[in-house]
Amino acid sequence: MRIKKKSFLLKLIFSGVVIYFLVGVWNKSPSASQEWEQRGLNANWASLRDFAKYHGPRFKTSACVSAAKSWRITANFTMNSVLDALSLTSGFQLPVTTTAAMSRADKTQTVPDTEPLQVIVIPHSHNDPGWKKTYREYFDDQTTHILSLMVKKLHEYPDMTFIWVESTFLDTWWLNQTLETRSRFKELVDSGRLEIASGMWVAPDEASPHYFALVDQMIEGHYWVKKNLGIVPESSLNYDQFGYSSTMPYLNKLAGIKHVLIKRINRWVKEKLGTQHRMNFRWRQIWDSQGLDDIFAHVDTYEWMSISDSCGPDRPTCMKLDFKEQPDLPDPNKPVPPAGGRIPLETLANSLVEQFRLKNANYKYNVMMLPHGGDFRFDTEYEWDKQYRNMKIFMKYVNERKDFNVQMRFGTLKDFFMEVDRQTEKYGLNYPVVTGDFYSYTENQDYWTGYFTTRQFNKRLGREVLESLRSAELFAAVAISGHVDGQVRQQILSDLVIARKNLGIFQHHDAITGTSKKHVARDYELLLTSAFTSSQRVLATAVQLLLSGDGSNSKLSGLMPLLARPTENRLTRQVLLPMYQAGTQLLLVNSLTQSRRELVSLLVPVSNITIIDYKNNEVAFDLYQVASGTFKINFVVDFPPLGLVILTVKQSNKNRDQIENGVKVEVVTNSNRNNIRLQDTEKTRMTCENSLMNVTFSLITGTPERLCYHGKQFCARMQIDWRWFQERGGAYASITHGRSVPLTTANMTVKSIRGSYTCGIEVTSGFYSYNMTLTLVHSAPGQALKVTVLSDLSKAVEKMGNFAMRVKTDIKNELFFVDSAGLQMMGRKFRKDLPFDGNIYPMSSMAILEDAHARLVVHSAQPHGVVGSTSGEIDFMLDRVAMRPEMDLPEPVKDNKPTLTTFFMEMLPSSIFEGHVSMETTVPTINSIFLNDLLQHPIYAFSSHENGYVASKVKSFLHHEISCDFVLANVKNLAYSNDNLHDGLSLTVFRRAYGCHGNLTELFCPVNNEAEIIPDAIFNPRKANPNYDVREMFLSHLKEKRKLGSNERVRMRAMDIKTFHLRSRE
Ligand SMILES: [Zn+2]
Repeated sequence: MRIKKKSFLLKLIFSGVVIYFLVGVWNKSPSASQEWEQRGLNANWASLRDFAKYHGPRFKTSACVSAAKSWRITANFTMNSVLDALSLTSGFQLPVTTTAAMSRADKTQTVPDTEPLQVIVIPHSHNDPGWKKTYREYFDDQTTHILSLMVKKLHEYPDMTFIWVESTFLDTWWLNQTLETRSRFKELVDSGRLEIASGMWVAPDEASPHYFALVDQMIEGHYWVKKNLGIVPESSLNYDQFGYSSTMPYLNKLAGIKHVLIKRINRWVKEKLGTQHRMNFRWRQIWDSQGLDDIFAHVDTYEWMSISDSCGPDRPTCMKLDFKEQPDLPDPNKPVPPAGGRIPLETLANSLVEQFRLKNANYKYNVMMLPHGGDFRFDTEYEWDKQYRNMKIFMKYVNERKDFNVQMRFGTLKDFFMEVDRQTEKYGLNYPVVTGDFYSYTENQDYWTGYFTTRQFNKRLGREVLESLRSAELFAAVAISGHVDGQVRQQILSDLVIARKNLGIFQHHDAITGTSKKHVARDYELLLTSAFTSSQRVLATAVQLLLSGDGSNSKLSGLMPLLARPTENRLTRQVLLPMYQAGTQLLLVNSLTQSRRELVSLLVPVSNITIIDYKNNEVAFDLYQVASGTFKINFVVDFPPLGLVILTVKQSNKNRDQIENGVKVEVVTNSNRNNIRLQDTEKTRMTCENSLMNVTFSLITGTPERLCYHGKQFCARMQIDWRWFQERGGAYASITHGRSVPLTTANMTVKSIRGSYTCGIEVTSGFYSYNMTLTLVHSAPGQALKVTVLSDLSKAVEKMGNFAMRVKTDIKNELFFVDSAGLQMMGRKFRKDLPFDGNIYPMSSMAILEDAHARLVVHSAQPHGVVGSTSGEIDFMLDRVAMRPEMDLPEPVKDNKPTLTTFFMEMLPSSIFEGHVSMETTVPTINSIFLNDLLQHPIYAFSSHENGYVASKVKSFLHHEISCDFVLANVKNLAYSNDNLHDGLSLTVFRRAYGCHGNLTELFCPVNNEAEIIPDAIFNPRKANPNYDVREMFLSHLKEKRKLGSNERVRMRAMDIKTFHLRSRE
């Protein structure tokens, strides 16, 4: 290495300063790892009182300042207000088509008549990464030909343009292309004739995904586009999602996208927006009163993306532009052919130009996009030639007809928005500011709200992969920051790339939605299973590397994940802990950047075991026989932030059935329920209690009845019922009209379960069973009821319908709140004049009901459709059998499998939360945020027969515990897709807004009101003196914002998301 003298001197001085600074910091606050060691933490806490003493925050927490206090809605209108107005005026009778009112739109004279109507013809092909065919089937049959023909034909027709959306298909195609084809492709992109619009890995559904997965697939796509094509997408094309969230425009804005185009919104809403010239707006986030993150949105008219809905309100007229299906137009340059079958050009042009004018009347400007394509179009040479030749003839004729005052040309989405921007500036056009989202979507007379719940098995599996991948990326990031054997690094990167590409594909709007054919859904299960397995493998390797210290994992090869997915269509299962002669090493991994106290559950083959922590203390556990030769053990572990705990499990020499130092869980079956007299409270009720709260259960009905919180001396009713909604819809639409019946409890078996760490009930009833437990540990999970539901609708008596969980409280609410992509809470209202099914909304991870007295918070580990039709009640659709064929999808959705659903439920007194900001949003308390984090980011367990791990039993890889409002929203070990060349670390940090906690006595997760992070000092890397080059990037790495100084503090406002690119200088 060549070191310049001057630079060496500077480095020396700089290093001195850094060392001085570090020593100073070190003295004040040791690293999290060191601190945990110093505290000599026992993995099992005997005394709960010690907890607060040790668990206190490591930074000064000051008085809570809720970010939401300053939030005010500054939009011209919210989408809730649009729905309210429609409700009043129309009673929500959906128009028969979107065309009637829109064809009457009276064009305001915002642009003078002298300005010709510009019609930008945008040839395109919508390629679903799976729907009726699998990803691979589509690629082999059509997509690869479309892309290859695109290169050939755009070179042949030098004025033709094309747009492409999904990067995943580009990546698959690219791998098989010669350097020459690649460079011809790049030429087209560089010339601007081929636009990569959006450029995300897929065009994701916006109802069910979590922000981690949305950001992940966005980075995967944009990074690919940037690295391989050297371009930056500027517009986002969202043609086929069934409704649009308010989270996605925020992510687009943060990525540097300038314009978004959406299409499939509620038919009524579209009509109204069109007649009011509000089809363009500046989309604003609820919290963004200054409009700092506004993004320009364009709603395309009419319903479908096909040519029939492209040119104006009249479908048969627009279809005449689909030249693939029409006779050729007469070529004016050639002798006039016999008239038979030819449409006179003049008649055609007259009728189409009239349609153009009608379409354009919905907008303020005189420019119109004419999308020309559809699903998997342009897959044959015949179509390319026919569409191009005839469109040229048609455009030439129209452009020459001066009386039309229309200018037609080929262009891209970017060309269209450039012209919009030009006219906006030239004529001073103004657009309203809008806040909110576009649910629920309607198609014909149906509300597409069934897909929020369809194929729940896959939705849950997708989230398991997300959790596993996030942990793997995080630990791999720290593990490969030091010296690592090249082959090991390659294997890690290639496993990570597989996992995130597959997870990305699953966010597609026919994948996570459950709206594909059965064999395609199975293909997604295979992709997710492979992603899960590879991410668990990476996590195991990373942990081995981190513990071995020398960068090779050869001597510690025996780390086995204790979760397995042997087949794609079964639930992920816990692996029985292997019992080795010399003891089994148990490695428990916490991927959260906060310390946590959790109950860990494992399956063991014998009951005579001993668990030993690193101070050689025995760890107490609960033991519960689940099957012959299988026992479940529960024990409490305190985890350091982003770290791991190692325990030893040994089998004693005593009788196999003896319990060494555990407590046998008491299980009482109340199967003779009918004989229990209702007055006999001893037998009909049970109460579970920990230091924070108690829950009373009815052993008759198998439901909780009351939750009481000690500190607040607060009690509230909370019951849970199970219902069956009669369903006539298909994969997409929900058609229940709200008709539901309670599920029979005739054959219900209720067991009461009491251990030293858990208490609750276990209920079996026909096709479903559930657990409701209170953790008897003074901890964040100890403030909530955990509900786990296992259902198998293939065994339900009714052959069609929705299985739902209804939570009933005394809260008097008009609104209910559900989250959007885990990022923000959206205010929803049950509008009685809207059909019941139009009131179902998507939830990704949280729902809230509140009044002046109390708040119910339901946290979920998977997405659901949610509706609150009665004050105090909220229904969660858990799974569905949907028999109606929809969207040319001939198959009913009836491939239900045993499916697991998990919730945490909290009931908070009003004194500890702030009322909602408006009807638009509310904010969770910091404890609620933490509880949700615990659910999203579970502990992972590994076993080993090695003893090499004994040296360090509690380890954190975080430099300091991070304030609880911060979350590592995405972590990616960047790698060039083709050769897996490591390109440093992508780190996305999200600072959540939270409500103040009033006089809440205990914070389980400390917050630091300084609201700062130091990107290069988050991790405790393996290398002693890491030297990072840190850049702040736009969200998805398309562009760089600035270079950061070493150890620079970055301030973040509430709801800020910032992405950093960290590269080691060595
Ligand atoms: Zn699609």
